[in-house]
Amino acid sequence: MKEENKEIIIAQALLDSSNPTLQEQLFEYILPNHLESKTKIGSLALMPFGKQLMRGLIVNLVLSSPEELSQDYELKYISEILKESIFEPEYLDLLLWISNFYICSFWQTLKGILPIGLLGSFQERVFIQIESLEDLIELKIKITSKEEKLLNLLLNSVQKNLAFSFLRQQSKDTTFRQTIKSLISKNLIIVQTQIKKAVKPALKKQNIIKNNKLNIINLNTQQQEIFDNLKIILDQEQFDDYLLHGITGSGKTEIYFSLIREVLKKEKQVIYLVPEIALTVQLLERVYKHFPPDQVSIWHSNLAAGERILAWNECLNNSARLIIGARSAIFAPVSNLGLIIIDEEHDSSYKSGFKPFYDTKQIALQRAKLNNALLLSGSATPSIKNYFFAKENHKLLSIKNRFNNKPLPKVQIIDMRIELQNGNKSIFSRSLRQALDKCILNKEQAILLLNKRGHSSYIFCRDCGYVAFCKNCSVPMIYHLTDNALHCHHCNFRQAKLTVCPACQSLKIKESGLGTQKLEAELKRNFPAAEILRLDRDISSRREGVQEIWNQLISPEAEKKSQFLVGTQLVAKGIDLPRVSVVGVVHSEAGLYLPDYTAAERSFQLLTQAAGRAGRHDKDSNIIFQTYIPEHEIIKFAANQDYEAFYDWEIEQRKAYNYTPFCELTRFILSNESDTTVEKEMEKLKDWIIVEAKNLEITIELLGPAPCPYEKLNKLFRWHILIKHKQIDINSIRTIYKEIKENYRFNSRLAFDLMPISLL
Ligand code: ADP
Ligand code: ZN
Ligand code: ZN
Repeated sequence: MKEENKEIIIAQALLDSSNPTLQEQLFEYILPNHLESKTKIGSLALMPFGKQLMRGLIVNLVLSSPEELSQDYELKYISEILKESIFEPEYLDLLLWISNFYICSFWQTLKGILPIGLLGSFQERVFIQIESLEDLIELKIKITSKEEKLLNLLLNSVQKNLAFSFLRQQSKDTTFRQTIKSLISKNLIIVQTQIKKAVKPALKKQNIIKNNKLNIINLNTQQQEIFDNLKIILDQEQFDDYLLHGITGSGKTEIYFSLIREVLKKEKQVIYLVPEIALTVQLLERVYKHFPPDQVSIWHSNLAAGERILAWNECLNNSARLIIGARSAIFAPVSNLGLIIIDEEHDSSYKSGFKPFYDTKQIALQRAKLNNALLLSGSATPSIKNYFFAKENHKLLSIKNRFNNKPLPKVQIIDMRIELQNGNKSIFSRSLRQALDKCILNKEQAILLLNKRGHSSYIFCRDCGYVAFCKNCSVPMIYHLTDNALHCHHCNFRQAKLTVCPACQSLKIKESGLGTQKLEAELKRNFPAAEILRLDRDISSRREGVQEIWNQLISPEAEKKSQFLVGTQLVAKGIDLPRVSVVGVVHSEAGLYLPDYTAAERSFQLLTQAAGRAGRHDKDSNIIFQTYIPEHEIIKFAANQDYEAFYDWEIEQRKAYNYTPFCELTRFILSNESDTTVEKEMEKLKDWIIVEAKNLEITIELLGPAPCPYEKLNKLFRWHILIKHKQIDINSIRTIYKEIKENYRFNSRLAFDLMPISLL
């Protein structure tokens, strides 16, 4: 009697299935008594599904009585708990929100966000229970030939057991499951689920940096005023969202440090985001002078699996107070969050290029709201969109001057057309050459920037700087070798390749193309006395790559020679070296003509940040922007480091062409191995988008379909269509995607990118 009335715990779980319809459903299981003590919301479990076992995450536990359980369908039992807890229940709310907002299945979200190895994996193994086939005679057991084959495979294995899937494959038995069942019933084998242990957390590294005395800096008046305003918000413990704008060297980081100190005093946690590992090296040296190393946890993208899990566990057990890292650190499972800082908030690395294509700012907003925390973004060159809304909502804080009123270094714009007219065909202008020679003489350092994206083959006139633009889209046309024509990657308008410049009739109109490696070689050839170091994605993707370069730049040996650091956008970010006396941008206009409406914004940011690398200390410095279009406003704004002027100019463009912040964009992408299939299906997709938008009664504008600027990636042809819509219609757009995903079948892969920041 007693037993029957006992309440039963039902666990609701989301399964790690590859089947899209199963991914969306909640499945119910009975939680057996012996697992109760180690099961929580957020536990990782193993459960039967059909004939197999599956992994699932428990998202809810409900009490039920035996009578309540429906008669006509029998609930199965949870088989095993793989991990008691990988995060707190509130964190699950965040994951569910992300999965829902970006319309990405829960498990795909989980796998995209959690460190690899944290989830572990499981395996069914088959163990043999006899020593040899002769035992069968003694046991008086008869077996079939199929069964004999299986037993032999097991007997011949080293450990007398094999993985279920491996055994199946080796046996070539078409009725494998039945054979296994029969062998189990004869007690000759057992099948067990083994948990392949997840990656072990690494040991905490001893910190190299000695922490004798922690620095405290007195803020100046401007900094103090901003700090005081933000401290009030911290004390209220309510969600808020501010943007801090101040040129490089204006003292933003010191404000962050003061705020962090306040939050740590309250026993709360801070997530401090920086865009690139290149930035973390130097930032950490500063951080360790301000905060006890044992409270700091690092989350950059080059951590080994074990280090990631260590960092994860440090957050869970609350020993990490200040989490510093790149984009993924926004997912640190801290439960007592007081402050999120997004430094260099304009940086494109904050937007993920993988499913669920999340935007760190969106996630940060959601986390700050859930935790009543303060979100502070900062930049010398804020993104147009965030600046616009910060201004509009009175959430903009500005530091007007450099700390100590140090003057901004002057930038020289060099007209490369004149260089050419004077017979200088080299990639170095005479001014840059002179500056570099002087740099060698003084044993100083130089930074040379060549925007990697300058590889793209827009075409321009070397005499007048003319660039061919699409007549519909205000983006440059891209030269295609395949049909020797110019294409617009937004609307697919095409025109013949230009052989004569329409502006000046010159014949010197052709595509551009120069990479960092070629530049490195040219530097070595032209300046043999300097040591040439290269920093680009090839280097930074190696675990210690950036650290090695960095060590070379700051070693005592370095002071005895001259060093040139050449690279892509990475060299423009955050580096603060006192011995840098030259910054040279080889093709200042390179990024301006990308087929992307944010091209001007990105270029301005890059050039301004690059200029900010020199003259940070008391050195005379040469900053040189080489360009074929010296009259271009963006280049002039960047040379003057005048964000306000740039903003006023760019916001007019956005208004005129109706781009963000005046509308919102959503991008649908189809990819397929066949170019013709993807093109055909894209037309269908377009029609369906139009129909769905009509049903929802929202006004949209479509651009395309057209091939993506990166037309073929990983053997897949990619086409996209852009929807321009109102900001408030974002949920309707999400509905359109959901409807299309659920109701229409494509042979191509369909992806959707909400609020893309890049259209490549
Ligand atoms: P940003 O983050 O805006 O680039 P930083 O915070 O790095 O600026 O400040 C630039 C330099 O000025 C750093 O070397 C910093 O230590 C110094 N600095 C900033 N504020 C102060 C202050 N109140 N007192 C002393 N030094 C400061
Ligand atoms: Zn021309
Ligand atoms: Zn176009």
